[in-house]
Amino acid sequence: MMLTVALTACMAKQPSLENECLYSPSQTRFSFWSNCAEQMEVRIYQEEDSYFTVPLMKGKNDFWTGSVKGDQAGKFYTVRSFQNGEWAPESPGIFAKAVSVNGQRAAILDLKTTDPEGWDTDVRPAMPDPTDIVVYETHLRDFTMSPNAQIKKKGKFLALTEKPAISYLQQLGITHLQILPFFDYGSIDETTLAKGRYNWGYDPVNYNTPEGGYSSDPYDPSVRIREAKEMIHALHKAGIRVVMDVVYNHTYDARGCALGRVVPNYFYRLNPDGTFANGSGCGNETASDHEMMRRFMVESVAYWAREYHIDGFRFDLMGIHDQETMRHIRAALDKIDPTILTYGEGWAAMSPAYPYEKLAMKQFTHLMPRVGAFSDDIRNALIGSPFDTERGFASGNSANRNAVCFGLVGGINYQNNRFGEGWSGEPMQHVSYITCHDNYCLRDRIEVSASSESESTHLRMNKLAQTAVLVSQGMTFIYGGEELFRTKKGIDNSYQSPDSINIIPWENQQLYKDLHDYYVQMIAIRRAHKGFRLGSAEAVNSHVEFLSTADEGLIVYRIKDLEGTDSARSLVVVLNGTANALQTQVPEAQYTVLAHDGEANVAGLGVLQTNKVTVEPYSATILAEM
Ligand code: CA
Repeated sequence: MMLTVALTACMAKQPSLENECLYSPSQTRFSFWSNCAEQMEVRIYQEEDSYFTVPLMKGKNDFWTGSVKGDQAGKFYTVRSFQNGEWAPESPGIFAKAVSVNGQRAAILDLKTTDPEGWDTDVRPAMPDPTDIVVYETHLRDFTMSPNAQIKKKGKFLALTEKPAISYLQQLGITHLQILPFFDYGSIDETTLAKGRYNWGYDPVNYNTPEGGYSSDPYDPSVRIREAKEMIHALHKAGIRVVMDVVYNHTYDARGCALGRVVPNYFYRLNPDGTFANGSGCGNETASDHEMMRRFMVESVAYWAREYHIDGFRFDLMGIHDQETMRHIRAALDKIDPTILTYGEGWAAMSPAYPYEKLAMKQFTHLMPRVGAFSDDIRNALIGSPFDTERGFASGNSANRNAVCFGLVGGINYQNNRFGEGWSGEPMQHVSYITCHDNYCLRDRIEVSASSESESTHLRMNKLAQTAVLVSQGMTFIYGGEELFRTKKGIDNSYQSPDSINIIPWENQQLYKDLHDYYVQMIAIRRAHKGFRLGSAEAVNSHVEFLSTADEGLIVYRIKDLEGTDSARSLVVVLNGTANALQTQVPEAQYTVLAHDGEANVAGLGVLQTNKVTVEPYSATILAEM
């Protein structure tokens, strides 16, 4: 609590960056920050090439302000600054909340008018405990473009308001939908959308307004805002929370974008020779350690949480940001709603130009309470590292057994670091996953690493790997389409591949019904049993044990003493990562069998009184002691 108070006080010293344009029917006020401008002005566009100029005056703390009388709604504006003897090019400012097509100019509008019907009663679905979460990651096009999806507004925000999309997610049982970037990004020309080009969107242009390519009219600044809100409202009504993928670590272009034009270089880390540092691998890296970049990130995240009711943020290359900034973000979101999630990639693409020990890298996750990090540990242990084509535990590599156990306990310090030094402070900080949009999807990964095996064996490995994720004590995350045995045809970086590579094959609901049903049941099993979601490192240390077994390819994971916590007295999960059926000892009891030999049922597949269990090749058996 002390930490929160201290952080907030320090952030409150200066005016907000987010109030660049404050509209009212009687006047519009402007306020821009620049510590290097000698003059600043706003141009207000009445038409494409016709504008009038509003000079800005320098006030306290390097904020430049000005205003214009009368109702300016519907007009566009840009800001420019005079520095080093010349006028910098115009930009929409760093905190434009509404923009023109392709985000070149900012728009003046009354945000209230963008609220869809029912928005004032929109509420976040209930979410009592972070480890209850099952995140489903998708891209708006991947999820809705299939010709077999009965969706009208394919590839648009509004697609996720349509019943087939919503019902599918509800039936799957996930709690959170994580959507690949949907702030305004640069790689798709919004004026030529009919060509249907695809991009993931990791190239930010305007951080604080939705992407025009997902709107039904990118020329009208209010439409993208309203439609993004409609999407969120529809998902909320369906009981699904929305996680936004945010990419503050770099911009599309470090000189030409708003951050670079308004205050050149300030928002970025530079190398000693003055060139842009490049921890993102995309040509630049932002400087969250600089006061106003930190403030920008904190205010931006808080803005999306307040204005759009976003329920969580996934930070791209979070390891580029400093830990202090992540703690500030957590504190700001806690003031809005402490159940809003924060997690990210605890790594960078290349070495950031900042002291490593201060960065939000995975190994320092425990220093950022309630900020999670993706666990490449459990991912690599189960299916192999993306940097090679080796098998993982679920595809027959028993050497990874201990690393799987490390993931099952949520990356904590478990019983004197029995499986390695913990990096999460609490299990919810460990995002358990095997695949995401990066690297091979699960089917392709298994095919590449276990190419000699049959498809039926691949399906067994798929189920086994995802079972380990879904019974782990961390926060669970599934890449959308794995439940439909999606393939990206061997493409491991499909960021600009056509829809034919990226779309989720809805027709596979019938073709691979058995796999799909297994995912549905496993998600239900996780959500029905608190034992898989104990929620604290202390509880995991006292309730979780690993039973000894003679076979290296078996893991016998038991969660015990659950009276009062779970409907089961104990849960036993046996994972068999080998090609042979294997038998192992379990405590003598009467069990309900929740999963066995590639089948799962939350209501139970049968009842067993036993002290030993035989687990079929590449499969999991899950028992609940009643
Ligand atoms: Ca755009």
